[in-house]
Amino acid sequence: MNTTITGTQVNYYFICRRKLWLFSRGITFEKYHENVDIGSFIHDTYYNRNKKEIQIGPVKIDFFDNNYEVVHEVKKTSKLEQAALWQLKYYLFFLKQYGFEATGVVHVPEEKKTIKVELTGEDEQRIFDITGDIETILDSPAAPERLASGKCKKCAYYEFCFAE
Ligand code: SF4
Repeated sequence: MNTTITGTQVNYYFICRRKLWLFSRGITFEKYHENVDIGSFIHDTYYNRNKKEIQIGPVKIDFFDNNYEVVHEVKKTSKLEQAALWQLKYYLFFLKQYGFEATGVVHVPEEKKTIKVELTGEDEQRIFDITGDIETILDSPAAPERLASGKCKKCAYYEFCFAE
């Protein structure tokens, strides 16, 4: 299994494969985008009340608690819930490879929402499929097709993808 895949790549796989491909090639507009600024603000504010993020190889974990038994991930919105859930499941899977059995919680502070996440045997099999798919996408010399523009209005890559 490719252990260089990051949580952000797993997240983008569920949002848009073109975004995954562009981001993975270092083409990034996030730092100029308003939504990303808001997300970073929420992230940083929430962190200040909790613990610092931890980098383990390619995986950057927002914070742990319970003696490293619970992994937490902070998100701006629950609209992209599937992406956030699989990002966190990937972290749990990654940690398991190193002997840490953990559960997870996705926090959406703006919506006062928390979502508990556990890793099942089926999830582990799916993660093998997902990471295999990600490798195939990244190996492709051409970017995947755009999504329909209606889904893209809030994406940092919107102008890049839809420039006339
Ligand atoms: S603008 Fe749309 S097609 Fe382009 S990267 Fe973003 S989500 Fe994907």
